Amino acid sequence: MVDSRETRRAFVCGHPIRHSRSPLIHGHWLEQFGIAGRYTAEDVAPENFAGFIEGLRSGEAGFVGGNVTIPHKEAACRLVDTPDELAKELGAANTLWVEDGKVRATNTDGYGFTANLDACHPGWDKGLRAVIFGAGGAARAIVQAVRDRGFSEVHIVNRTVARAQELADRFGPKIFAHPQGALGEVMRGADLFVNTTSVGMDGENAIDIDFTPLVSGAVVTDIVYVPLMTPMLIKAQAQGFAIVDGLGMLLHQAVPGFEKWFGRRPAVDEALRALIVADMERHA
Ligand code: NAP
Repeated sequence: MVDSRETRRAFVCGHPIRHSRSPLIHGHWLEQFGIAGRYTAEDVAPENFAGFIEGLRSGEAGFVGGNVTIPHKEAACRLVDTPDELAKELGAANTLWVEDGKVRATNTDGYGFTANLDACHPGWDKGLRAVIFGAGGAARAIVQAVRDRGFSEVHIVNRTVARAQELADRFGPKIFAHPQGALGEVMRGADLFVNTTSVGMDGENAIDIDFTPLVSGAVVTDIVYVPLMTPMLIKAQAQGFAIVDGLGMLLHQAVPGFEKWFGRRPAVDEALRALIVADMERHA
């Protein structure tokens, strides 16, 4: 019997897209399962994105689905036929699939974030007060995910406070916005600290944060994963806090899409992590 998955093709679509590690991740799983599918990077400029979605819907492009990344996540949510509730509340989608001639979509960034913490620090979600530093694109899904895990207060601190306020307005009464100057005060008694800013990426713009106002036993995580040990993680660890790096978020967010397109649920394991770390080192 011919395995219909053999002919399946999926994509990651962005602009630019050449630095995406998604083909490496999905290629690894395809090989691991012996599935002769394909997962390719598609560079699509914003003016061509609506046409790309139409090609997906009509089947002309030959894809069963794929990921969308910057700058298409918001447009994807608007252009697909059926974004799920998660994507609708976020106003952004990153995982698309075709079903009965309709393009459906969800957002797996929040899942990637929580699955990484579940794997690396079970019990991370037992606290009451969370601090999210940053209010950019990635922060949105994290605010939603942390709220949905039951934290009673989620405090967003951002250099541009208006962006933090936008997220507080979007995600409801348990979410509070603060300017960056309030960071130390807001961290007092918090159980979880998440860096979602690009501060520390490639070793740049480091900000010296004192983590001691957090409760003892608090968890500090950074979604920046280049470098893996960011200045914030180094400092938090030196001050005695549990830390979780951001690479696992990238790996875990890919799991639901692979399962939808190729019919097998892949694992995030050491072999996959080592593959991506080696690629990061090659391009350092
Ligand atoms: P974004 O939309 O551009 O947002 C950037 C955020 O960083 C904003 O809150 C911005 O504040 C803040 N920021 C930048 N420079 C700053 C500085 N010098 N001081 C204080 N705040 C500063 O970016 P994004 O898409 O959310 O991505 C943010 C980071 O997360 C990137 O490093 C990205 O690689 C990483 N990321 C990781 C994963 C993963 O899977 N681990 C997934 C997505 C993103 P303003 O609002 O004031 O500008």
